[in-house]
Amino acid sequence: MTFTEKQTDPTSEMHWLGDMQADYFYPNGIAGDKFFKHLKENDSFLATKCKKCSKVLFPARLYCEDCFTEIPGENWIEVPASGKIRLFTIAKLDAHGEKMKEPKIMALIDIEKTNGSILGVINSNDYEKDFSGVQVQAVLRPKANREGTLKDILYWE
Ligand SMILES: [Zn+2]
Repeated sequence: MTFTEKQTDPTSEMHWLGDMQADYFYPNGIAGDKFFKHLKENDSFLATKCKKCSKVLFPARLYCEDCFTEIPGENWIEVPASGKIRLFTIAKLDAHGEKMKEPKIMALIDIEKTNGSILGVINSNDYEKDFSGVQVQAVLRPKANREGTLKDILYWE
């Protein structure tokens, strides 16, 4: 799946159009099922650790993306639902090119204790702030309302 979004650079007011590959944010198959089942019942994430190269894969995978080594069940580890913002952008237009009522701060977050990252919405309307390197925590839906999907992550703050 790819999604295309018109975005605005707040400093130059220049619009750019790009494709962002969103696949890797969604673990597939068996690994994905286990990941989301865990997320439904816990306030943390699951990752997998490669025995060969020690890379901690997030979202969890059954094979190392670097050295293609199979990752056994005992190498699943729990990691905090928090991390550091690697990069961010302010989205002013939605996926259909319509101006949003309130711009959204979108960030790529490097998940703590892993070598992986996830795309998330930052709960802030401080559009002047430099969010690079800021530590954030995932705010999840109340457990009773979780459905075991990415939507269980409401936003980050
Ligand atoms: Zn590996």
